[in-house]
Amino acid sequence: MRFGFHISIAGGFSKVVERATALGCESIQLFSRNPRGWKYGPLDVDDVAQFRRDVEAAGIGPVVVHMPYLPNLAHSKGEHFKKSVDSLIDDLKRCRELGAQYLVTHVGKRMDSTEEEGVQSVVKALNTACKKVRNSVLVLLENTAGQGSEIGYTFHHIQEIIGNVDEPERVGVCFDTSHGFEAGYNVSTKVGLSKMLKEFDERIGLERLRVLHLNDSKTPLGSRVDRHWHIGQGEIGLEGFRRIVNHPKLKHLPGIMETPKKEEGDDERNMKTIRRLVGKR
Ligand SMILES: [Zn+2]
Ligand SMILES: [Zn+2]
Repeated sequence: MRFGFHISIAGGFSKVVERATALGCESIQLFSRNPRGWKYGPLDVDDVAQFRRDVEAAGIGPVVVHMPYLPNLAHSKGEHFKKSVDSLIDDLKRCRELGAQYLVTHVGKRMDSTEEEGVQSVVKALNTACKKVRNSVLVLLENTAGQGSEIGYTFHHIQEIIGNVDEPERVGVCFDTSHGFEAGYNVSTKVGLSKMLKEFDERIGLERLRVLHLNDSKTPLGSRVDRHWHIGQGEIGLEGFRRIVNHPKLKHLPGIMETPKKEEGDDERNMKTIRRLVGKR
């Protein structure tokens, strides 16, 4: 498994690879802009060129872009829907410029609409964006914990979305272990992991699974509360992650950690922990 972290773009893209290699990343995830606002400027050509050279030289791949926090694709009645779809369009273009293969987006919040309406909104958003941007970047729908009005916490929702878009070949999935666990998929046990993979394959198809978010969960199975935690120190635990990173159906994937960065050395410790699990059965 090619391990990596979500890396900060503070100070520009030309700072990213240095941070990533210092942590031993083989794959990376980043934002294409400030994730907490709607306003942003175009990408700086020189900065991006340096980033792409650095990625190439360091042998990092894949490069994954994560959508910012504000866009919500699952509520087409909302005032932000058009802005959200425009964000998706822009990020698809920016992925191409940055040399990223994947754009990860949370499925979204249905707000005051039904789950079915939420699913249809995401379909509409994906169709609009894929029609507008013709490139090879794959949009990856990330499963959610099902917190609040989030949809995408069951594989059924994701199946419905991919089954109804005009260009399903342009959509894949990013599976977040903590969100899955919090939504009720018990990936901490051998039986639970197999069951999850079986259902994924039946509903979505394992070939659509392109990225793993490796996060332990601070909250219990089925809590529907999204709290990422350090690898091995949460409810999924070391044994759970040992099975995940060595699983024959998963070990070829990039495994990106979005674990807390609160104390000095947190990332280093998580990387060390996850690497120690590889190959041990
Ligand atoms: Zn995630
Ligand atoms: Zn999360």
